[in-house]
Amino acid sequence: MNIYPKAKLGILGSGQLGRMFAIEAIQMGYEVISYSPELNSPCSKVGVKSIVGEYEDKNKILSFLDSIDCLSFEFENISEKCLNYLENYQKNRNFPIRPNPNSIRIAGNRFKEKSLFKELGLEVTNFYYINSFESFEMQKNKIQFPCILKTNRFGYDGKGQSKFKNLVELEEFLKTKNDLDFLIEEIVNFDEEISIIASRFQSGKKFFYLPSKNIHKNHILDTTVHPANLTDNIIKKTIESAAKLMDKLDYVGVLGFEFFRVGERLICNEFSPRPHNSGHFSQNSSQISQFKLQILTLTNREPTWDFEIIPTKKSIMKNIIGFDFSKYDNLYEELLKNENYFYHDYGKEEAKEGRKMGHINYIGDLDLEKSFPVK
Ligand code: AMP
Repeated sequence: MNIYPKAKLGILGSGQLGRMFAIEAIQMGYEVISYSPELNSPCSKVGVKSIVGEYEDKNKILSFLDSIDCLSFEFENISEKCLNYLENYQKNRNFPIRPNPNSIRIAGNRFKEKSLFKELGLEVTNFYYINSFESFEMQKNKIQFPCILKTNRFGYDGKGQSKFKNLVELEEFLKTKNDLDFLIEEIVNFDEEISIIASRFQSGKKFFYLPSKNIHKNHILDTTVHPANLTDNIIKKTIESAAKLMDKLDYVGVLGFEFFRVGERLICNEFSPRPHNSGHFSQNSSQISQFKLQILTLTNREPTWDFEIIPTKKSIMKNIIGFDFSKYDNLYEELLKNENYFYHDYGKEEAKEGRKMGHINYIGDLDLEKSFPVK
């Protein structure tokens, strides 16, 4: 099924990723309708029709689906109940939901996600799924410390994560919990964190951007440098890993795949079944942004490009988090007078510690200290 303008593109969620998707989609002649519980969302301020409802309100979800021609996502922390509504609707009506709800299910569950990487023969750090005190007792002597404990579901930007130096600390922590649903991961002493943005069309055709280097602060992505300075071997591994994953999931859409690099080893961390913060450079460094790619995959408009790696210019993306703008006085205002800097605002009403408010893309030489002289 091809969906050409003026089709109605549905997006589940209404945050910044939905907003940037909508800005491109509206320019391409589409109508965008978002669904989320949030009033005055980032989406609602850019010409999106925003339906406000709970994700588990079956009737409301179904009437949202009735009002659109196809559905995509801007986040993966979606309950099983909601995913089931979507999956049944998709099956009963042959309705285009891209990527498929099962990909969302796996990306939103760290244990399922890491198990799939392992099944595909991709390298992962040792991990242990703890869903009861019995399962902890059975596995605790195998865990190497230090380790990271992550909530198995509904975690993002380091939320729901804690580090433990030894078994005593970990046991004390778990004793304070009633319900256990955690993934314990051994810490990787990585050289750097990298990610790749990949896309796959219904025919199986794939396009990628070269991988980028990511710098996190307080577990939140702070800066992305594109492209990362990597050996051909590592670049090939990132592309092959993403391709394998997308083929296995029969994935249609865009995804961000995050890795730890240790020398020439590539250790898979997680994937996001949607455009990713580390792919925002593409908005200004390429003719085709990750959001445009999402729209093309969703509407089944497969390009006839004769390349697999999408051409890009060198770029650095810097997130504006919390009170960054006021913290650095007039620095950003000064930088933005230069035409090589591009600001993208998320339309959020209130700044909060750790909240992503916007980002700046810089196009030019990859000298981080020169292009963003902030600590
Ligand atoms: P995640 O939510 O899994 O993406 O984790 C957020 C950040 O925590 C990552 O980008 C890393 O900086 C750090 N991190 C997560 N898991 C590990 C690990 N197993 N070893 C070392 N650092 C990690």
